[in-house]
Amino acid sequence: MSFTLAIVGRPNVGKSTLFNRLVGKRLALVDDQPGVTRDLREGEARLADLRFTVIDTAGLEDATDDSLQGRMRRLTERAVDMADVCLFMIDARTGLTPVDEMFAEILRKRAKHILVAANKGEGAAADAGVIEAWNLGLGEPIRLSAEHGEGLNDLYTALLPIT
Ligand code: GDP
Ligand code: MG
Repeated sequence: MSFTLAIVGRPNVGKSTLFNRLVGKRLALVDDQPGVTRDLREGEARLADLRFTVIDTAGLEDATDDSLQGRMRRLTERAVDMADVCLFMIDARTGLTPVDEMFAEILRKRAKHILVAANKGEGAAADAGVIEAWNLGLGEPIRLSAEHGEGLNDLYTALLPIT
């Protein structure tokens, strides 16, 4: 069965890095909703023998400060509603922040399935953040390094029950 995965989380945690790794060059823009048109990227992901649609909330980086909170919420809700499963990404080096908690709240209310990804997980500097991610109460964190391509096997295993 085919499914749609949305990668959500605050700016700079590594969403687009993972998106690019999963999609490579097979990229398209989501263009069915005015206002968020350029801000969601959709691509055809490959992870071993899995094929699925992946959505990146790409429009967060260029938001002005005063519009950031509302923009993040709107974009994230849009992506969550399109998705069968949400990959909620945090930065394991930073640990949880109040903004992460805001995202977790949106997901608890709206998402069909939630997976937690503790990204930037390479090296011992991420150990504490990975453990801290359990506090979200959203299940076992998947330790990833999107940049180095680590943890993809665990992501695969976590996705299997959803397929
Ligand atoms: P986004 O705003 O959530 O889409 O985050 P980006 O994918 O643009 O990444 C933000 C920054 O984090 C960039 O400088 C990336 O190179 C870096 N980054 C992404 N993944 C990793 C990772 O696994 N480890 C480390 N150390 N840095 C990462
Ligand atoms: Mg991005």
